[in-house]
Amino acid sequence: MAYLRSVPRVWREREIKYRLIGGACRSCGRRFYPYRQTCPACGSEEVERVKLPETGTVEVFTVVRSPPSEFAEQAPYVVALVRLDDGTLVPAQITDVDPGEVYEGMRVEAALRRYRTQGERGIIEYGIKFRPLIQ
Ligand SMILES: [Zn+2]
Repeated sequence: MAYLRSVPRVWREREIKYRLIGGACRSCGRRFYPYRQTCPACGSEEVERVKLPETGTVEVFTVVRSPPSEFAEQAPYVVALVRLDDGTLVPAQITDVDPGEVYEGMRVEAALRRYRTQGERGIIEYGIKFRPLIQ
C-alpha cells in the first residue's frame, strides 16, 4: 500500500514531484504526470522526461470530506484534474483556497506543499499541489 513506501523511494521521487516532471511518449505523443517508464496510453517504453508547464485550469474537481486517515488533518480538501497549459491532465489537490470557492475553469499554478505525514514515524512528504493563479 502507498503509505508503506520506503524512505529511499520518497527521496527518489522528490525531484520528480518538486519540478513537475512528466513523461512524453515518443510512440503516441501522449504526455502524462507523474513520470513513469511505461506510457499509460499505448504501453510503449519509449518515454522521455519533460518539464511540464506549471499553470493550468481546473477541469473537474470534488471535495473530499472523509479522507483516508493519513490525510484526515487536511479535510475537507479539494482534489481535481488540472489541465496544464500543454494539455497534460494532472490529478492534484487544490490548496490555499476555501473548497467552496473552487470552480471548473479556475486558473491555477503549481505550488510545493506538504502532501502528507506518514504514520507513526511522522515523515512529512512534500509534493506538488495547485493554488489559485493570481493574475
Ligand atoms: Zn504512448
